[in-house]
Amino acid sequence: MQAIENLIESGQKIGLSISQEKASKLIAYMDALLKKNESINLTRITDEEEFILLHLLDSLTLLPFIQNRSIKILDLGTGGGFPGIPLAIMLPESQFVLLDSTRKKLNVVNDIAQSLGLENVQVLHGRAEELGHESIYRQQFDLVVSRAVANLNSLSEYALPFVKVGGRFLSMKGKEYESELASGKKAIKKLGGQIIAIENAILPQNDYEHVIIVVEKLGPTPEKLPRNSGKIKKEPLK
Ligand code: SAH
Repeated sequence: MQAIENLIESGQKIGLSISQEKASKLIAYMDALLKKNESINLTRITDEEEFILLHLLDSLTLLPFIQNRSIKILDLGTGGGFPGIPLAIMLPESQFVLLDSTRKKLNVVNDIAQSLGLENVQVLHGRAEELGHESIYRQQFDLVVSRAVANLNSLSEYALPFVKVGGRFLSMKGKEYESELASGKKAIKKLGGQIIAIENAILPQNDYEHVIIVVEKLGPTPEKLPRNSGKIKKEPLK
């Protein structure tokens, strides 16, 4: 009960209004994930207050950047379900696909999502650079979101192929993002996108500062992209 109140109050501090019902689902997700975390390594954050701040609220800092409430969203490299699951709880009219290359984590996320009755969540196992070439996924998403997966240039090569022309990619980055920006911008251009904004994400404690890089897809991604994972890592687009 206390955790639910804490989440609602902390949400208010950053301008988010989280209903009792949604807050209790968010906390139920935390409880279930932390229980599974005792046997499978899903997160290093095991303190509840930190979890609320660094997983739940941090994921929800994307909400102001998502205007349309019934869209198709891909969470690339979702790990323990972040930012995908908290967003899916807050946006029940949108359809979420949570992608990761580690099946073990996805199974946990899927089991918990089902037990919470999250009907708008589907998990997808595989590598982004492979699935991004499949017609059922390529350029099929209004929005791709991603946190803590790769450098901006590699990450963009994973992410932008999934985005519809006219859609967006939201990349959550720490303060060190500036060093990734120059090469990231060039990669994004080659992939058909453009950075249209870099916004500070606000959390109740400002020592956890990060930014949200907003990328718009202006034109289609060239057929030859994404390349295979070896090439993406060894010869980043620039
Ligand atoms: N987004 C989560 C997890 C970050 S860890 C969070 O912020 O808490 C990075 C995750 O990305 C890992 O679970 C890893 O399996 C996944 N990942 C890394 N490269 C990937 C790729 N090319 N395709 C799919 N998943 C990938």
